[in-house]
Amino acid sequence: MGLSAEREAPDSVLRRNAWKLRGLSGAAFERRASAILRREYEGVVESRRARSTGTLVALLDGEHPEVDNDPHGGRWATLCEDHGGVVYHRALTDAKDFLSHPEEWCPTCQENRE
Ligand SMILES: [Zn+2]
Repeated sequence: MGLSAEREAPDSVLRRNAWKLRGLSGAAFERRASAILRREYEGVVESRRARSTGTLVALLDGEHPEVDNDPHGGRWATLCEDHGGVVYHRALTDAKDFLSHPEEWCPTCQENRE
């Protein structure tokens, strides 16, 4: 990935990832395709609604050019999309563990819980 001017066209990205879309159609295809494009363009590895708080959370790859990375905090970022709370993790497995529990790392989710 380079500057946005060199950005690969969405249909080309999806052709390259066709094996991930094989056998899908309708809404399932749309969901998978949009996840692939978010990862390609925004560095979003995973995004979902956290059951504990009801907020949208995302796991970001700090090596992606669109992601502001804190070099001291680690490569992987968990982001509460509703409040902008963000925490960095060195290990992907840690980031995945924390992702579903924004009340442990997003200050606003923490306050709402108390
Ligand atoms: Zn939050």
